[in-house]
Amino acid sequence: MDLSRTRILIVGAGQAGARAAEALRDAGHCGSITLLGEEQHPPYERPQLSKAMLINADEEPRFIRTSQDWAAIDIELGTSSPTVAIDVNRRAIGLSDGREIAFDRLLLATGTRPRRLRDLENCGLRVCYLRCIDDALELRRSLVQGSKVVLVGGGVIGLEVASAAIARGCEVTVLEKAERLLPQVGSPTLSAYLERLHSDRGVAICCNVSISGATAKGIALSDGRTIPADLVVVGVGVEPAVDLARQAGLKVDQGIRINSSGMTDIDGIYAAGDVAEQWSGWHGRWMRVENWANAQNQAIATARSMVGQDNSYAAPPWFWSDQFEANIQVIGHPGGADEIVRGDVARGRFTTISLRDGEVAGAVTVSSPKDMALLRRLAASRKRVNPSDMANPAFDLKQALAS
Ligand code: NAP
Repeated sequence: MDLSRTRILIVGAGQAGARAAEALRDAGHCGSITLLGEEQHPPYERPQLSKAMLINADEEPRFIRTSQDWAAIDIELGTSSPTVAIDVNRRAIGLSDGREIAFDRLLLATGTRPRRLRDLENCGLRVCYLRCIDDALELRRSLVQGSKVVLVGGGVIGLEVASAAIARGCEVTVLEKAERLLPQVGSPTLSAYLERLHSDRGVAICCNVSISGATAKGIALSDGRTIPADLVVVGVGVEPAVDLARQAGLKVDQGIRINSSGMTDIDGIYAAGDVAEQWSGWHGRWMRVENWANAQNQAIATARSMVGQDNSYAAPPWFWSDQFEANIQVIGHPGGADEIVRGDVARGRFTTISLRDGEVAGAVTVSSPKDMALLRRLAASRKRVNPSDMANPAFDLKQALAS
């Protein structure tokens, strides 16, 4: 088959789907490319939804391209076009309006959806989830001065929304079931710093809590307290959108299983982004990576492999978060008992480094982006480093790279 002329269909028009579509054209693919999304909007950047879009009343969504710009590179964009079925044998997908579209190669970039808390349904409280532009616009309208906002989940959504809600003059409480904030990062130093940062700005932090129910007045905790709320924002993690893949008979575990080229267990069908589960040499296990950088880079690599080109993408996972004045960046797997701390935690400018067999296995930087740039290169290089050099704030990390 002349791969450059195949009909490629992409289901899911988020970061992964959109970047894959562009990468296919960049790779010289001449056949048709159709990009289908459920939302009414063309593909857009998500990071600002929980940050600037909530804080600034006039912040506009950032579209990856306008509808006209997609047409200009001959990509057929179908918005408001949910795919409801995949016929693997006939190589066609079915849309909710009854149409069918045939493909030679299919990429599933269906992403994730927020985990919902059934205990909070029909309790009379206003409960929001944050995933798409429309959610962000609705939440922005609701963050009004003096209102009591309760965030369920002290992860990235909970903490970024808490910071935005304080900026909008709300009274804010964060409820986290683990014993510390951002537990999934695994860095006790970061969690302790965040607890102080948020408390200093007026956020009430309650860790180690479990929700027993809710009434129109607020959220009931199992320790007997009720936390008053005008608005509840839930950020308790996400579930991969794997229904289509399951129904089509693809192998699905924590996500859609893909090989190192991004292909599923069915020839010609690929997956990328938050929904895809791939073997990570970095972690030594199968994993789904939920971050912007992976959605973009894994999708670009998979697009290349769909048209028979080299697809070398292997980088330690990296994400960032902005909360109040702090820029937080995380790479790999930080934490553990031997976390090395550089800089001044009390002043909110520091770096933590975690080593495994002498290599950088994970790191966190708080308002120290230059350190992160070097640590990302060090981690990727897998060079062995000296722990006492790493702990010495006067030691220039560039030297570790050069050695
Ligand atoms: P998250 O970062 O996984 O955090 C969810 C938090 O909620 C965890 O700390 C979890 O604790 C806690 N939790 C779970 N069930 C709970 C319950 N019943 N009561 C109280 N706390 C509970 O997920 P998220 O904040 O919902 O974010 C969702 C997605 O958006 C992720 O894919 C994330 O990558 C993406 N996102 C990323 C950014 C960024 O990169 N800056 C910003 C916004 C959103 P346990 O871990 O103990 O379960």
